[in-house]
Amino acid sequence: MSETDTDADTAGAATCSRRDCRAPATWALVWNNPKVHTPDRRKTWLACDEHRDYLSEFLDVRGFLLERVPFSEFEG
Ligand SMILES: [Zn+2]
Repeated sequence: MSETDTDADTAGAATCSRRDCRAPATWALVWNNPKVHTPDRRKTWLACDEHRDYLSEFLDVRGFLLERVPFSEFEG
């Protein structure tokens, strides 16, 4: 595990992971791509309300989505 493995910088201002979106993140999407990641690897995307469904569906159709948690409850 390395700090640089995470896409999201939870220590700073957390914004939506959707490209070109600067909205504050309100959701954390936890995912893993079994083709490239070991099972214990947890990648994170952050999403605003508007893009939560878009991003989670993107992951879900590929079978990558593990968890969707409110950002206020997200602990990394
Ligand atoms: Zn967004």
